Amino acid sequence: MCGVLRPADAGKKAVLMGWVNRRRDLGNLIFVDVRDRSGVTQVVFSEELNAAIHAKAELLRNEYVIAAIGTVKLRDADTVNKNIPTGEVELVADELRILNEAKHPPFLPSDTALANEEVRLKYRYIDLRRDAMQFNIELRHKVALAIRDYLASQGFFEIETPFMTRSTPEGARDYLVPSRVQPGTFYALPQSPQLFKQILMISGFDKYFQIVRCFRDEDLRADRQPEFTQIDLEMSYPQPERVWEVVEGFLKAAFKAAGHEIKTSFPRMDYDEAIRQFGIDKPDLRLPAFAEVGDCFTAQDLETLAVHPELPVVAIRTPKVGELSRKERDDIKPMFNSKGGAKLFEDFKRLEKIFPQATKKILQRTGAAADDLIVLVSGSGQSGGQDHPASKRKVTPEELAIYASAGLLRVALAQKYADRHGIFKKSGNPETDYRFLWVTNFPMFEYDEQEKRWMAAHHPFTSPHEEDMDKLESDPAMVRALAYDVVLNGTELGSGSIRIHRQDIQRKIFHALGMTEEEAKSRFGFFLEALEYGTPPHGGIALGLDRIVMILAGADSLREVIPFPKTAAAKDLMVDAPTPVTDAQLRDLGIQVKKK
Ligand code: ASP
Repeated sequence: MCGVLRPADAGKKAVLMGWVNRRRDLGNLIFVDVRDRSGVTQVVFSEELNAAIHAKAELLRNEYVIAAIGTVKLRDADTVNKNIPTGEVELVADELRILNEAKHPPFLPSDTALANEEVRLKYRYIDLRRDAMQFNIELRHKVALAIRDYLASQGFFEIETPFMTRSTPEGARDYLVPSRVQPGTFYALPQSPQLFKQILMISGFDKYFQIVRCFRDEDLRADRQPEFTQIDLEMSYPQPERVWEVVEGFLKAAFKAAGHEIKTSFPRMDYDEAIRQFGIDKPDLRLPAFAEVGDCFTAQDLETLAVHPELPVVAIRTPKVGELSRKERDDIKPMFNSKGGAKLFEDFKRLEKIFPQATKKILQRTGAAADDLIVLVSGSGQSGGQDHPASKRKVTPEELAIYASAGLLRVALAQKYADRHGIFKKSGNPETDYRFLWVTNFPMFEYDEQEKRWMAAHHPFTSPHEEDMDKLESDPAMVRALAYDVVLNGTELGSGSIRIHRQDIQRKIFHALGMTEEEAKSRFGFFLEALEYGTPPHGGIALGLDRIVMILAGADSLREVIPFPKTAAAKDLMVDAPTPVTDAQLRDLGIQVKKK
């Protein structure tokens, strides 16, 4: 037999194949920990029992690949290792084969201190042998499998779409692939399968999904990769609620596969409400919401503080931070990224001295305990911008600037004082560890201040609300989209929408986005045409698989859950890509590279 050895196997003959994780030489006894995917098992080579293989065991070094054959034996009570699943047994070897030797690696999978990340990525095959990486990759497999199984059980077909295609607008730059056969032309790697999945609805596959790689050439951050994996789906005839139900179903299955029972359905919140309460469209519900406290001050107070009386004044409460020193208070100031003249009051003690009435009310309103930190964010005299094209929105651009400044500070403070409040630590209770939320009713368009034009807030195939259709040209600021995001603990897991299924409306949207008829035709002509051949109403969503696994693994970077990731400079350090190519290859493609 082979695999994980247990006490019940005692007395049986077994073969263990794997890497030498560690070798301890006690003279007449050599202990070798053999590591395979299932963990580590101790093998004993005894000089007394078999001098020849004991001598061979002396040759073993870290990371040699071996096969040990022997008899499973219960360990003596005082040598049982409770920390590993095979800790109660050992294999007493009577045969040893060295299947392959190994150079001494730059770091060992068993090292307790992590090597620097560049070294880990260069020698990724060694890094992947580490327990933590084996766990993460197995978790990824289980999560993806649970999602596939769930969606298949709901009647979804997994259908592949091309990687070599045309540009799809998801807001990033495309990765381009030059065509040799048609010199001077390029395929784009898909930023998402958006148009293909919509076309699959037109083609009669009314429930589609795909766990699919997407490619976006954008500036990278810890939670971005140039190629990443989406759980992409689309269905015909859904209301948004139907899409949410499917997503909740597969997330429940995925979390279960990782050992967590989550409750559905998830709470829902309008975009405007998310901004008012949290200053961000992906609120972390584990932390307290803002309290609006402008009315706690008198008009005179606000004037003294040079606070704009008509704009929001919000209190941010960060639990259990305790009394701050002057230096600590000073450290908060640079964390505040003021937009549109928003002002910060980080010294609540000082406010208490000058405005005892107001601050008392604020403490009541926020429900603050004695050791909670309260800071205030307000508008200032400099706020302005009534002539902004979005100034009639429920949350005006001026208000948005204050809420957004406060929203970022709320998250930054919670991160800075995470050790003190402990809210981000997993408690083992999935209801508090994993706070999901649907954010809905986003504005259809966002105004690009630099280009002075409206842009699609989601993507240009998103349907406006039925009752806002007439404002598409006259008042784009007020058009709401049938778009939704699913958020977990302040991370956007995915976004989707009900789509436009009528060609005339799709044209109108392209027009509202400043695209001429010719431009729309040259970029999306095939799609506009397809819409004319009987398109059912449809909608869908895409969620980031890497992000879901990252959160489940408790990792802080996507690179921890992607087997072969890229660095922040979009490089693969193991295969050393990207690289220059030969002149002959370039000639074939009709491409000349400019020397810098
Ligand atoms: N294609 C969209 C994205 O990648 C998701 C969707 O609308 O289904 O964000």
